Amino acid sequence: MTRASLCFYVYAIYIKIMSNEIKTIHEFDYNLICDFFSNTERQGPGSPEVTLKALSFIDNLTDKSLIADIGCGTGGQTMVLAQHTSGNITGIDLFPKFIDLFNANATKLNLQHRVKGIVGSMDNLSFGNEELDLIWSEGAIYNIGFERGLKEWRQFLKTGGYIAVSESAWFTDERPAEIHNYWMEHCPEMDTIPNKVAQIQKAGYIPVATFILPTTCWTEHYFAPLVRAQEMFLDKYAGNKIAEEFVWYQRYDAELYRKYKEFYGYVFFIAKKIGK
Ligand code: SAH
Repeated sequence: MTRASLCFYVYAIYIKIMSNEIKTIHEFDYNLICDFFSNTERQGPGSPEVTLKALSFIDNLTDKSLIADIGCGTGGQTMVLAQHTSGNITGIDLFPKFIDLFNANATKLNLQHRVKGIVGSMDNLSFGNEELDLIWSEGAIYNIGFERGLKEWRQFLKTGGYIAVSESAWFTDERPAEIHNYWMEHCPEMDTIPNKVAQIQKAGYIPVATFILPTTCWTEHYFAPLVRAQEMFLDKYAGNKIAEEFVWYQRYDAELYRKYKEFYGYVFFIAKKIGK
């Protein structure tokens, strides 16, 4: 199995399924993999507290503001954002099932008049030039690449507009080979925090704030719900090799995190566009 440049094999698998790259998958109903992720509130590390902390650094928002949440998934963080801002939010995700759930979540919270999910790809966004006040993206920019995303999305932001992204990063200059090799294989852009901040500045933004997500964003908000979903999944697909491999990789990922969490984690980067 090749895993391209995606940080999370789990997404690599379903995106390959979506694009029919896995030819042997036909006996396996990809809707059920969607169901797997649909059963988890988040599709990456994070928490409502962290979303609000990142939002606290952003000071330009009004009820006229236009916000995009890129790679929004089912919208866990988008709904938090929506409940603490008053503008319009567009969530974009490649995965139609996630967007259906996103829109159902917005309706449940009575936010549907100003929070809308659309299916689309982050490398082909349809916003106008300098249309957005804020670009949000939690645990998703790696799909286009951190530097490329910062550069390409910048055109959609007004001068003085903000970008807030969470992304994995190394906490130290050196780290054990096992964890280094694992991440560099999935995510070759993985870098230290100062290097990421330098990339932000180079891309035409002022770095406003940077903070490391607490470990509970992984353990409580990401891995723990996955464990419940995995148990249901394995029961349902007992004997299915693809399902087993899928869960095996998830468990390996969690194990590596427990072992090496002092060396890496998720970091929120908040920055402001300067110039045209
Ligand atoms: N922001 C959410 C989801 C993060 S997981 C959260 O924090 O919970 C990464 C998301 O990016 C997935 O929902 C995946 O479907 C989406 N994604 C992957 N490639 C994409 C692309 N090219 N364009 C838009 N979304 C993409």
